[in-house]
Amino acid sequence: MDFNPRNVILSHLEPAAAMRARGKIERVTLRRGGVLQEIGEPVDWVWFPDAALICVASENVDGESVSGGMVGWNGAYGAFEACGSRVSFTRAIVQIAGPAWRMRAGHYRELFDQSPALRTAVHKHIEALMVEARQLVACAAIHPVENRMCRALLDASERSHGGPVLSLTQEALANMLGVQRPTVAVTASSLQRRGLIRTRRGVIELLDRRGLQQLCCSCRETIAYAEAEIVRSEAHVCEA
Ligand SMILES: [Zn+2]
Repeated sequence: MDFNPRNVILSHLEPAAAMRARGKIERVTLRRGGVLQEIGEPVDWVWFPDAALICVASENVDGESVSGGMVGWNGAYGAFEACGSRVSFTRAIVQIAGPAWRMRAGHYRELFDQSPALRTAVHKHIEALMVEARQLVACAAIHPVENRMCRALLDASERSHGGPVLSLTQEALANMLGVQRPTVAVTASSLQRRGLIRTRRGVIELLDRRGLQQLCCSCRETIAYAEAEIVRSEAHVCEA
């Protein structure tokens, strides 16, 4: 099997670790709407998108689901749960279809023990996710939905290696932003009237990326700066 991942964590494996991974990893195509992981279930697989987008959703006591982030080529789903509690406290839903890799959690733990490069890449991913999560809490509190939607659309496109056409429903976007669907419909109409996007059934087309960047809230820049610093840092990960 060809093992030429675009996923940033897998692409950082040392040659020896990549060789070991090759026999234990599967190439899969993730379908939109597929549930990769349920809340409260054991983490049996670790998922590494190449060009798919996974939304990580939390649920309240009434069963309402809100997205707590999205993972694309820049990360993995299950990578820290598999080495921690081994249970998931979030649901993983495929939001944008595309290719990915998956590895059984047991094999992943072996590789994690053997590969300092994998530990470093996962550590950096965790740090980046923490920065993003904290920033997005502030974002939800202080930035208007319109500006947040521009950020979410640009992030979704970038993390799925997407072109201008995103197979993203308005319902998914509502979950990602933590707002009601009518709010998304009104906001998307406003962006469409200004020629920034075009919405079709289950699809959002980004017509003016520069315009979206100008309207996008400052959190995107703040998070991008932190991620760049994390990527180029010399992370210290125990070799033992
Ligand atoms: Zn913001």
